[in-house]
Amino acid sequence: MTESGRREFLATATMLGATAAVATAARAQRFGNPDSPPQGAVNAADNPGTTNTVVGPQNPALADQFPSAISPPPTDVDALPMFWASFNNAHKRIQNGGWARQVSKKDFAIAESIAGVNMHLSAGGIRELHWHQTAEWSIMTRGRCRITTLDAQGRPRVEDVEAGDLWYFPAGLPHSLQGLGPQGCEFVLAFDDGSQSENNTLLLTEMMAHFPPEVIGKNFGVAADAFQNIPLHPRWIFQGKEPGDLAADREASGVAQGGEPVIFRMSRSQPVKQTAGGVIRIADSTNFPISKTIAAAMVTVKPGALREIHWHPNADEWQYWMQGQGRMTVFDTGPKATTMDFHPGDIGYVKKSLPHYIENTGHEDLVFFELFRTDRYEEVSLSNWLTHLPPALVAEHLNIDVATIARFPKGGPGVVPV
Ligand code: MN
Ligand code: MN
Repeated sequence: MTESGRREFLATATMLGATAAVATAARAQRFGNPDSPPQGAVNAADNPGTTNTVVGPQNPALADQFPSAISPPPTDVDALPMFWASFNNAHKRIQNGGWARQVSKKDFAIAESIAGVNMHLSAGGIRELHWHQTAEWSIMTRGRCRITTLDAQGRPRVEDVEAGDLWYFPAGLPHSLQGLGPQGCEFVLAFDDGSQSENNTLLLTEMMAHFPPEVIGKNFGVAADAFQNIPLHPRWIFQGKEPGDLAADREASGVAQGGEPVIFRMSRSQPVKQTAGGVIRIADSTNFPISKTIAAAMVTVKPGALREIHWHPNADEWQYWMQGQGRMTVFDTGPKATTMDFHPGDIGYVKKSLPHYIENTGHEDLVFFELFRTDRYEEVSLSNWLTHLPPALVAEHLNIDVATIARFPKGGPGVVPV
């Protein structure tokens, strides 16, 4: 739209006694859409029927989920590499005892630092004893689970985790997971390498079947015949008997005091930021010492509220969207700016130091996780930066007055209320 066309459009909207929402949108359009040539539906305001309507083949159910892709805000320009993925349409490997689906770098090219897995285990369902060359971080999203592991000093751990709890297994340390009653469990785990897969883990059964029987016998000091019935194919996930009392399992495993905690009750931890708009909790090596390669934030955003504009100077961000819905714009040099919509089960990814915000666009609390392959959570808040500069310097950049700058939040609110 030309300058005069844009003024005419605004004047028409005003004359028609437009609603406050339309007036707000129109005001935003006056200073949004900075690009030359301009992009966005604002260009089609005079001719919407022909330029911004999809009439060809389409999937309306899917289109409804992505309003920001169908009609990007006029401030969007060019496009960043795809930073949206989802467990919702990932292949599900189903076995008796549970299922798993994953999104790794193979499916989601931008996600170099972290691969994600969504898994369900029935009550008694076992993710077989295994280990891998990457570390494993996980958040329980539903139900309860019993985990076992052994640390590098040979000390065992047996723990029960429930919704809102984390676990962390350092690379190479063996572990198992088993769903507890009545409904088993679901969780999302993250490997600290975008290329790791839940299908290339080192499995106890597979290894035992691939060492000579006489060596296995010698190793354990028993006759090789004792192993004649071991499974010759991996179990991976299988239905087991639901475990009993935790204390008895610990006793039987020889669990003694000592060793680093491998679980963290994240949803019950003290928030690091809290406003009327939401809450941020952090789990990293400062409060969960074993978590040396994954730092995490659990963020709750009230309807309409905004996870403030910020970036992370030390690592890429891998997001898991657990509840509610929202939109995120990511900005990069170029300029590039892309807005995308997210729903439960979706995954987002933001490269190190690229600014982004997340706005709750739904009617319930939005809950999502930010994960980073690093030992410590770090962020730069735009408002905290701009309120810790000589005000005249900021005023000269942005053509706003010093009194306005004085009203900006200080200290980085984390989540800005409506
Ligand atoms: Mn594992
Ligand atoms: Mn972030």
